[in-house]
Amino acid sequence: MAFKLPKLPYEYGDLMPHIDKRTMTIHHTKHHNGYTTKLNAAIEGTDLAKKSIEDILKKASTHGAAVRNNGGGFYNHSLFWKVMSPKGGGQPSAKSKIGAAINKDFGSFEKFKDAFSAAAKTQFGSGWAWLCVSNRGKLFVTGTPNQDNPLMDCAEKKGTPILGLDVWEHAYYLKYQNKRPDYVEAFFNVINWKQVAQNYSAATKK
Ligand code: MN
Repeated sequence: MAFKLPKLPYEYGDLMPHIDKRTMTIHHTKHHNGYTTKLNAAIEGTDLAKKSIEDILKKASTHGAAVRNNGGGFYNHSLFWKVMSPKGGGQPSAKSKIGAAINKDFGSFEKFKDAFSAAAKTQFGSGWAWLCVSNRGKLFVTGTPNQDNPLMDCAEKKGTPILGLDVWEHAYYLKYQNKRPDYVEAFFNVINWKQVAQNYSAATKK
């Protein structure tokens, strides 16, 4: 079964002023669509065509560059759109499970924000910053190059991503040019904590 480009849960212009409409349109219809098409082409007629994207990524290092890069691109962007919302921003309540876990594992929301922002700002070249759940149920922040992610066997730190930020230039260059830190700061205004909380519940139930 071929993978399908997911629809955005909002309109292209809805994340403005934080993320502009043209960037969102190109990012979804060209970049994400391209990863999806190329992933399908790479797995067509192979055993991988019957597997879930998570199962494919778990052995990413064994499937070759086309599957690793485009499979990562397909999964990463599918998560990315969902963890943003025009009604996002703020921070989760300390009484919520995710809010309590952030306080427990990072010390405070501000310390989490600092760690996540640092991962996003210091990722050299193209890549992603992640908030993940480890296999022991602990939250951690990490970065990955290119379209790699922490589900992959080749990732430096492995875990289940529950929040991700695309720091490829195609994600911010039209509005922010070289000012990646401004884009990272703006992202915090659109984070969909309701979705992150759901991702956290799902990851900790495994
Ligand atoms: Mn991207």
